[in-house]
Amino acid sequence: MVSRGTTQQSSAPFNRRIVLDIIRRQGGASRKDIQDQVGLSPQTIANITQDLEDLDLIVSRRTKGEKVRGQPPIAFELNPDGGDAIGISLELNRISVARVNLVGQMRDRSDVSVDLRDPKTALEAMIEHVSQLRDKGGKSKRIWGVGVAMPGPFDAPDLSFKGPTVFEQWRDLEIFNRLEEAVGLPVFYNVDSVAGAVGESLFGDARDANRFFYLYMGVGLGGALMIDRLAYQGANGNATEIGHMPVKLGGRLCSCGNNGCLETYLSLHALSEFLNEADGVLTPDEIVRRLDAGDTRIQDWCQSVAPYFRQAVCTIENMLDPEVIVLGGPAPRQLWEALVNHARPWLHSVRSGGGERGEDNRVVLSAQGGSSALLGAAFLPIYEKLTPRIDFLTQGPVDDGETARQKRQKRLGIA
Ligand SMILES: [Zn+2]
Repeated sequence: MVSRGTTQQSSAPFNRRIVLDIIRRQGGASRKDIQDQVGLSPQTIANITQDLEDLDLIVSRRTKGEKVRGQPPIAFELNPDGGDAIGISLELNRISVARVNLVGQMRDRSDVSVDLRDPKTALEAMIEHVSQLRDKGGKSKRIWGVGVAMPGPFDAPDLSFKGPTVFEQWRDLEIFNRLEEAVGLPVFYNVDSVAGAVGESLFGDARDANRFFYLYMGVGLGGALMIDRLAYQGANGNATEIGHMPVKLGGRLCSCGNNGCLETYLSLHALSEFLNEADGVLTPDEIVRRLDAGDTRIQDWCQSVAPYFRQAVCTIENMLDPEVIVLGGPAPRQLWEALVNHARPWLHSVRSGGGERGEDNRVVLSAQGGSSALLGAAFLPIYEKLTPRIDFLTQGPVDDGETARQKRQKRLGIA
């Protein structure tokens, strides 16, 4: 059964995920560290870490710190050889496929130009490249699954599969069932902006942020609000589709039928239209090449759309109060940099004038460059293994017949 990344229920015990997540976030944790953060007994934690070692998901090492009864304490770390996942990113008539390990390192990658308007051709290319990476092996033979990032939204009758992202023929997403059958691995998919945000929350600059917004610029513009490393989905899984937020009354006509949507100004499609590109949307490499060559027209575009960008940042901050806004997607870092230079200073908002991270860190550039969706896609199957699900937020880990939430409530005197 193909699952949409972050919404599938899993039968794996929550407690293992919670412990794994602490180890991942800290980069290493002792049993005592874990015990301090979850309401589990020392014996339960010992059992869980043993299970995780048996599964090869974590490795232990002695640390040099304080000694307990003559023995230095043991710290647990994620095992880089504990299994890989394969990520696929679909955009700009290009399929990128990468094999990524448990700590987010790309072992192998291939990029191929394919006409994505035809799902059959795209499926054949995906099967070929996934099979190649699957069979290449490497240190780790185990593969957790395949994750696919593609433009959304998926289930919004008025917005899905419209506009310049050329996915009209993909409507039923049956293609992912066929991919799963052909490669013999579980397939997860999600909107590219969500996949990119997942990657940022697991291994990017925002991994220590519990509330952040990820702004994804590709052909269109998307976004994701991450809350405790989970994407806020909304009622139908289509939340934060920020590209269709109207920013100009009577503005440019958008593919959705409205006028003045943000992505008609701020997106690679909008940039390419501004430059009158005959060959469609400019590739990220071409944008970098032109910026490096001192192309003033791209700077002109940045200046012309900076007011809409500034307005969007202000709206995101006032609506959602994120710790930080991370800028990513296929749009190259140099383009985001130019946009930020033209857009600053930011407008006043609930986030301005301070915040935990300070005024200078209201908006930051993704360190993953143009690979965020690809890495994020590969993280979807790993994410299934590593991250507590939404259930954790409502139920908490279970131990001694009492949930952590109940324990916390008891401690706080509210239960
Ligand atoms: Zn629109």
